[in-house]
Amino acid sequence: MPQIYNFSAGPAALPQAVMEQAQAEFLNWQGKGISAMEISHRHPWFMAMAEQAERDLRELLAIPSNYKVLFLAGGASFQFAMVPMNLLRGKNTADYINTGIWSQKAINEAKRYCKVNVAASSESSQFNSIPDFNEWQLNPQAAYVHYVANETISGLEFNGIPNTADVPLVSDMSSNILSTSIEVNRFGLIYAGAQKNIGPSGLSILIVREDLLGDVLPFTPSLYNYQIQAENNSMYNTPPTYAWYIAGLVFAWLKKQGGLSVMAERNQRKAAKLYQYIDQSDCYFNTIDPRYRSNMNVTFRMRQAELEPQFIQEAEQAGLFALKGHKLAGGGMRASIYNAMPEEGVDRLIEFMHDFQQAQL
Ligand SMILES: *Cc1c(COP(=O)(O)O)cnc(C)c1O
Repeated sequence: MPQIYNFSAGPAALPQAVMEQAQAEFLNWQGKGISAMEISHRHPWFMAMAEQAERDLRELLAIPSNYKVLFLAGGASFQFAMVPMNLLRGKNTADYINTGIWSQKAINEAKRYCKVNVAASSESSQFNSIPDFNEWQLNPQAAYVHYVANETISGLEFNGIPNTADVPLVSDMSSNILSTSIEVNRFGLIYAGAQKNIGPSGLSILIVREDLLGDVLPFTPSLYNYQIQAENNSMYNTPPTYAWYIAGLVFAWLKKQGGLSVMAERNQRKAAKLYQYIDQSDCYFNTIDPRYRSNMNVTFRMRQAELEPQFIQEAEQAGLFALKGHKLAGGGMRASIYNAMPEEGVDRLIEFMHDFQQAQL
């Protein structure tokens, strides 16, 4: 079989070394004679693994001790409802920044629970940019300010953290968490679905400041209540145990790579060379404001749009998987190059783009 590079946006490629370890110990986990998939979440062996995963994540992101880390079932979309349920805290309005499809989904869900003030939007520029912080119409009475740190579908990423004074900042970091270090203490809540840059789907990770917990909307289901989940170490019911285990292997792998500063450098280099190739080409182009181009999801189109289906098909035959862009972004191509994508995968893609262009001449 030729070397495959998987550019899927999510569920996405996992580090090869993690997959190999999971395979090697699938039937006999740490010499225990059973699989990590078939052990109770209450068993001391599982608890030890779960605690180690949290310790490693805390170390990677330098999470301060006044933050709880939650490992919850369900994707990031669950948080579109859980955030207002948990964080309105007696207020009836929240600020949202609208930078694309995932922002809009979060906004539409939040509208069921509170008054949403869209404090800034890049809709008028087809979501190709991020509104300047000093133009945001923030409401000092808002319960929180929500933004999507990386719009996975269009490939648009914040390059800094907004300042919201005393209003807690909430960020959906599903597709760029762990790609670089972040100042966790600037946030009230960070949440991320696992299937982009952490592990398998079905798991979400939350990092939430303790003092925000406890004042939930009255009808909030217990399982949706951050405080109840925190008090029960994310084991109020059965958590997605195998996804948690794989996430733990990914955290250990990240530490072994040298941590997030090493990953950030690698991610920066991978994205820069791909954008550089696109920019110098007269065949491919990218429409995102260069200040906010995503290091994780690189979107591109062809000047001859009618060639795009052929590009995607031939790329797949060449072992470059899942390069088709999202239909809500108008199609085209998208290369998702999360932590698990080795630099050779990006080199291989650039080579293919070059060869494809040559073949059209
Ligand atoms: C993928 C994604 C989601 C949705 O994740 P689900 O697990 O499908 O709910 C939300 N926000 C962002 C930024 C994403 O990339």
